[in-house]
Amino acid sequence: MSADLSLVSDCGSCFGLCCVALPFAKSADFAQNKPAGTPCGNLSDDFRCGIHARLRESGYSGCTVFDCFGAGQKVSQLTFGGVDWRREPASAPAMFTAFAVMRQLHELLRYLNEAIGLPAAAPLVPRLRRATDDVEAMTREDADTLAALDVPEVRAGVSELLREASELTRAGLPGRRRNHRGADLIGAKLRRAALRGANLRGAYLIGADLRDADLRGADVIGADLRGADLRGADLTDVLFLTQPQLNAARGDAATRLPATLARPGHWTG
Ligand code: SF4
Repeated sequence: MSADLSLVSDCGSCFGLCCVALPFAKSADFAQNKPAGTPCGNLSDDFRCGIHARLRESGYSGCTVFDCFGAGQKVSQLTFGGVDWRREPASAPAMFTAFAVMRQLHELLRYLNEAIGLPAAAPLVPRLRRATDDVEAMTREDADTLAALDVPEVRAGVSELLREASELTRAGLPGRRRNHRGADLIGAKLRRAALRGANLRGAYLIGADLRDADLRGADVIGADLRGADLRGADLTDVLFLTQPQLNAARGDAATRLPATLARPGHWTG
């Protein structure tokens, strides 16, 4: 999968939308409560995070596992033409609503981009490209149109295509392909598990022990990997893994990653 730079967050071109629009609750992930629509106290006047270099040490690890997939800069610069919510406070609610919709559309584009690059999914490429064009066109609509979009319906159409791409890809892999779709695997002991080509779509893998597991070609779209232990695991060619999922997990220098994803800075070794 080649990285589409428009789907990579560019915080310097964003009005700090994730730091204002989204709520968070005081917990192990956030040092304080913050309601939706209220700027985080760490957000600077220039929309930069004042504690960016020390988020984890400061109790804001939740911020390190969020990715807008480039939605923030598009809403800031395209939908709202570079006029921020401080200059135009009346636009803030519409801007935050547009951001929530745009983030989902950009996430779908990121998955479609990956699916188009899967060799086994070649028969689906015309449909995948049409879906990409359709979703891309939606992202260029105005704020009112974005707010009125039936996002669940859009997601459902794209999800079906992604599922087909996944099936085609995993069907070509050797061995038994386990089906753990949506499974409750919280805290599961899966050390050295043979999960090559497994269906882990939407699986709950919170805190699971996946050390040295073989996850090559597994489909992990929407899987919850918070605190999962991926030390030594092989994630080569894993399907639909995102950087936020990876950032939420634990790993080390021996974890094998897809070429398009970065090794999180907080991983050991
Ligand atoms: S701590 Fe920084 S990154 Fe997290 S919400 Fe606040 S300003 Fe944004």
